[in-house]
Amino acid sequence: MIQIRNNNLDELSNIHYEAILNYIQERGQKKLKDIEPYIKKCFGDKWNFEKLIKAKPNELEELSKIYEFKCSSSTINFKTYYGYLNNYKEEKFYIKKDGKKIPYRAYELIKSLNINTCPYCNRNTIYNLSHQKKRTSELDHFYPQSKYPFLALSFYNLVPSCKVCNKIKLDNDDKEYINPYDERFDFNKNMKFKIKVKNSTFHYDENGFKIGCKFNDDITINEKQRIKNNINDLALYDLYQNHKDIALELIQKREIYPDSYIDELAYNYSGLFKNREDLLRLITGGYVDDKDLDKRPLSKLIKDISEELELI
Ligand SMILES: [Zn+2]
Repeated sequence: MIQIRNNNLDELSNIHYEAILNYIQERGQKKLKDIEPYIKKCFGDKWNFEKLIKAKPNELEELSKIYEFKCSSSTINFKTYYGYLNNYKEEKFYIKKDGKKIPYRAYELIKSLNINTCPYCNRNTIYNLSHQKKRTSELDHFYPQSKYPFLALSFYNLVPSCKVCNKIKLDNDDKEYINPYDERFDFNKNMKFKIKVKNSTFHYDENGFKIGCKFNDDITINEKQRIKNNINDLALYDLYQNHKDIALELIQKREIYPDSYIDELAYNYSGLFKNREDLLRLITGGYVDDKDLDKRPLSKLIKDISEELELI
């Protein structure tokens, strides 16, 4: 899993809320007036529709624990509204720009997040198809809409993901997970992939090792358990054994590229690369900065193993 890093998340959640609000207001303020007391009744006085839509990951956790209810009797059917967002043919929600209505759907939401790979697995790409206005991604509800329909439209509950993860992800209420938007947990830093050597053939044979993981010593018990829940319920441990070829290549590259040779390449080709990270990307085949891990599939695996091998 990788964290969704975007400096404009607050602004994007504002746009998300405004797009939904524009549609509601177009249909009559009464709907909004009716929903507010309903939300206060369910969650308490400090909550309203806007706060529900913009609730941060820690607040979503709070909301999920307060109350579970079916909102079919509500004046706003959250699940139906989510359908408007998710269907590329529906143009119900919109933002206003220069006096024009610009459609706002999952397509636009995912485009604005500017994320290239699934944050749950970092294995599959999630591109938008600009000509057809379609997308290769799905929107996963971190808190499933079957159990938490009132969170079906909440910005930080909508995680762009690949089809595989959206299908595999289990909706187990008894466990705590890490939301890829949640800045309280540094998944990138606190869980690292590592090579678990089985025998001496590991430098030329994939059967000589397994891909495992290790945790930061400072990690809390709760965070460790959450990471384990994510890994287990997204089947990441099993899935990543299929990528041992990547780890093997890195083991071999470490032999081919000693530090002195990397220094030499950096010097000889100084005009070819923007910086040393660019050269290391060429050598490792992945991005090495945490903020870029979403740009290419398996970047976290590549980065963690490269660090373990002291290649980067
Ligand atoms: Zn995925």
